[in-house]
Amino acid sequence: MRQTSTARCWTRGRRVPQPLCPPRRVREPRRALLVRAHRQCSEEVRGMNAAEPTDVPRVVVAGGGFAGVSVVQALHRRFRGAVEVVLVSPRNHMLFQPLLPEVASGAIEPRHAVAPIRQALPRVRFRMGELDGLDPARKTVTVQPPAGDPYELAYTHVVIALGSAPRALLIPGLDEHAVAFSTVAEALHLRNAMLSRLEIAESTQDPDARESALRAVFIGGGYTGVEALAELHYLAQRAAERFENVEPEEIQWTLVEAADRILPNLPLELADRAVVKLRRRGIDVRLGTTVERIDDGRLQLSTGEELLADTVVWSAGVEPHPCVRRLGLDLDDAGRVEVDRTMRVPDHANVWALGDCAAVPRPDGGSYPPTAEQATRQGKQLGSNLARVLQGRAPEAYAHGESAELVTLGSHTAMGTVAGRQLVGKLPWLARRAYYVAQMPSVSRRVRLALEWSLGTAFPNDPTQLDALERPGGPLHRSLMRAESR
Ligand SMILES: Cc1cc2nc3c(=O)[nH]c(=O)nc-3n(C[C@H](O)[C@H](O)[C@H](O)COP(=O)(O)OP(=O)(O)OC[C@H]3O[C@@H](n4cnc5c(N)ncnc54)[C@H](O)[C@@H]3O)c2cc1C
Repeated sequence: MRQTSTARCWTRGRRVPQPLCPPRRVREPRRALLVRAHRQCSEEVRGMNAAEPTDVPRVVVAGGGFAGVSVVQALHRRFRGAVEVVLVSPRNHMLFQPLLPEVASGAIEPRHAVAPIRQALPRVRFRMGELDGLDPARKTVTVQPPAGDPYELAYTHVVIALGSAPRALLIPGLDEHAVAFSTVAEALHLRNAMLSRLEIAESTQDPDARESALRAVFIGGGYTGVEALAELHYLAQRAAERFENVEPEEIQWTLVEAADRILPNLPLELADRAVVKLRRRGIDVRLGTTVERIDDGRLQLSTGEELLADTVVWSAGVEPHPCVRRLGLDLDDAGRVEVDRTMRVPDHANVWALGDCAAVPRPDGGSYPPTAEQATRQGKQLGSNLARVLQGRAPEAYAHGESAELVTLGSHTAMGTVAGRQLVGKLPWLARRAYYVAQMPSVSRRVRLALEWSLGTAFPNDPTQLDALERPGGPLHRSLMRAESR
């Protein structure tokens, strides 16, 4: 006979005997357990406010991009004690902006250029919303959720990783006629615009309409402009081969750059080679030239020349996310949050900043450039620094020597520097892809991206034009509004 115990079981006020050996438990599926745990978390997070101190340290990370996600991953890896990490971001996924040119060219599916945060970081408490204010004295941040009133969140440490936004100049007609290239919507819009203009050129008899349809002008020769132009031009050329009345050579694309060189993040020698490569493909590269105004398909250049173009892409630089101005922190001349070499904000021991929105000082003077690689490396160091500080140790200075810079030029070619060596051709193109596969924060995303790229080597880029998307002028429009109000 089984022994019984009277432990912890009550039925209608009576203690009933329970077997010492507990009955076989019906195991709750892991997924259900996770959902239940998440619900409990959500209820608690909704209740989190300044008046409610937490019993474990709470790190609030604002921004779910390269920098923010790397901080969370490194902190979880390095800190064995209990810590609560809350990630606040207006998107529930991490966007791999360097993959946008390949989204536009159809080399990868849009959803393979993003990683869902809840799936990639299951231990983090994700709050969709925008950081809207910071009170270092009370150690609280204000979060504006997608719906409802703003709320306050208490923190032990807060990390500002808000990234950047397109930097617009006050050029007449820019807001109405140009589109930036920093979101999935913009990448898809440009792809659709380019493909629909090939159809217009195929069917129209009007020479001006044909010229406008077959010309695209990219303003700004940094990696955003060059990569987007190169990948889309490659797609346009391949797509045009199937048209009856459009020859690939008729596609006249122009890159307008104010400086006397493109790709400022690469050595001049490589940048010059990029210009030669682009020109060989029939791309008109104008250096030392600016766009003065845009009037309904007509671009006025600083040289006095006028170009007819239906598609205008603005890729002339970025500026720190406008929200950083609302935080009351010291900013440098470029509007980035000033931090010391450990990425801590001076005079605010519990506030840290990194990535595109922060001026992280180099040991030899100046600050690190706004790149995905820097944001990721800084994130790893800052995660480790937070772990050290939570353990009562001093944070370490960030120092990163040679950085790898690889720029895709479409047509299975890339160029750049790795460990100080200059590389051009297919090898850096493969290395760039391998790097971004490795950076994907979840195994499933890594596998999907690698499979898609492998299949893409056997099949050409997909030239399907999906239904037209509304013109996504958001970031550029907002940037212009800011520039006007300055
Ligand atoms: C088309 C394109 C191509 C590029 N190619 C390259 C390349 O080849 N190599 C390279 O190194 N770099 C490249 N970059 C630059 C690179 O993408 C950035 O340097 C990198 O994303 C910076 O990382 P970050 O975490 O600082 O910012 P982001 O990755 O931009 O992340 C910022 C995060 O903050 C969130 N956020 C914004 N506002 C708020 C708010 N108020 N509250 C909370 N969260 C907020 C955003 O939604 C986002 O999730 C490219 C960029 C573009 C646009």
